[in-house]
Amino acid sequence: MTINKSKGEPRGKMPSLRRCVGCRQMIDKTILLRVVRLSESGFAVDTTGKSAGRGAYMCKNADCLAKTIKKNTFNHSFKVKVPQSIYEELNQWI
Ligand SMILES: [Zn+2]
Repeated sequence: MTINKSKGEPRGKMPSLRRCVGCRQMIDKTILLRVVRLSESGFAVDTTGKSAGRGAYMCKNADCLAKTIKKNTFNHSFKVKVPQSIYEELNQWI
């Protein structure tokens, strides 16, 4: 008889899922664009996924960007208005 103290299976390579602010689907964060709030007024598109700060995620496609802009979902996520320049920057990654 073997004694197995660990509960359940090891996590292995479970993808870290994040919700896209456009289509609301849970998607592997490594293929999403991340917008991060750097300070009270500063935002950036974080393509490394490593910037510190509160982040929100979006798919790399024009549909999701359009939904995001139309519904202002980044503004809801961050509770402040995200500058237009962020949308322009996101557009360049799509
Ligand atoms: Zn999406």
